[in-house]
Amino acid sequence: MPISSTDVSLPDIRVTDVDSVLVDMPVKRPHQHAKIGMRQQSYLLVQVRTDAGIEGIGEIATAGGPWWSGDSVESVKATIDSYLGPALIGESATHVVRTMQKLDKVAALNWFAKAGLEMALYDIAGKALSCPVHVLLGGQTRSSVPVTWPLGSGDAAQEVDEAIARIETGFSRSFKIKMGSLPVEQDMHRAVEIAQKLHDRAELRVDLNAAWTESVAQRHLPALVDAGISLIEQPIERWNVEGHARLARRLNAPLMADESLATTRDAVSIASAGNAFQVFALKLMKSGGFNACREIAAIASAHGIGVFGGCFLESSIGTAANLQLGAALGDLTWGSEWIGPAWLSDDLAVEPVRYEQFEARVPNGPGLGVELDRDKLAHYRRDKQPRVAIR
Ligand code: MN
Repeated sequence: MPISSTDVSLPDIRVTDVDSVLVDMPVKRPHQHAKIGMRQQSYLLVQVRTDAGIEGIGEIATAGGPWWSGDSVESVKATIDSYLGPALIGESATHVVRTMQKLDKVAALNWFAKAGLEMALYDIAGKALSCPVHVLLGGQTRSSVPVTWPLGSGDAAQEVDEAIARIETGFSRSFKIKMGSLPVEQDMHRAVEIAQKLHDRAELRVDLNAAWTESVAQRHLPALVDAGISLIEQPIERWNVEGHARLARRLNAPLMADESLATTRDAVSIASAGNAFQVFALKLMKSGGFNACREIAAIASAHGIGVFGGCFLESSIGTAANLQLGAALGDLTWGSEWIGPAWLSDDLAVEPVRYEQFEARVPNGPGLGVELDRDKLAHYRRDKQPRVAIR
């Protein structure tokens, strides 16, 4: 559509090239989820180039492989290289919703791939208009976001020490205990020990990653609440929303939906299912990007459900994208876990995301607000280094 001379000039920039690169990044310590442990973190970096000479960056991250949603950085690369990337050529980088609707016709589902591409389009649009992405998402409601730090080594004494170090350096005073990989009794003992040692210094949460059965959760979750745990994330299977509702009725702490919630349709189903979850974990990756997360946040708000900024341990590229979303949300009651850059022992941005006073700072440069470090990309790209086992 031609733009008349009386219109404010938003240039209709077109995509000319889409490139994707797998990178494997070193981390400061292994991280244990319910089903797998991570000894490194892999990303798919997407570079979207345009006829205006502006390049947008997108980063796709998973929870260390396909165990979480079925998506892996390798499967996302195949989908982007063969289908979504070619479909993007010639499309508008600045009319983002329209372009993403075209991609929905090319590939069903594939939220992680679409989130990475939408991220790159918003980066381009922000750079073209010399504004941070949060301006395009409705403007800034906050300049920093509180962070909760995950405790995932499985060794309570080490985890207490790690938490105290994070409190004393002003990084975080909220912690999320990753549970579900140990036998139930041992895991309970560990979580209660951490809670007893930290309860007067920190806010504590747990994430089960859907590892427990409903009966195990019925039996053990009340003791976690009694120990001072203030938020319980996804204790049982993703499909079992009614089971979460039964748990919620017996608990004096909110339940948070993570695996159970990806699409806006999921958000509507959960919100209509009788108070199953009182908090939604928003994640760009699992839902397909900024616009889907804003729609889910609106559904949450309309139902009195709180929101939390979830993550897949992104580098400063993906974390900057998370922070652009967080900057523009009306409500972010439960803060975020946007701590990937502090878990990595190196980063992919020239200037990594900054943390101050228990919060992550929203980058305010154009687009995502961070610049890809091309030397680091060259150093860590998988096709230039020997393969390291994921687990
Ligand atoms: Mn989770």
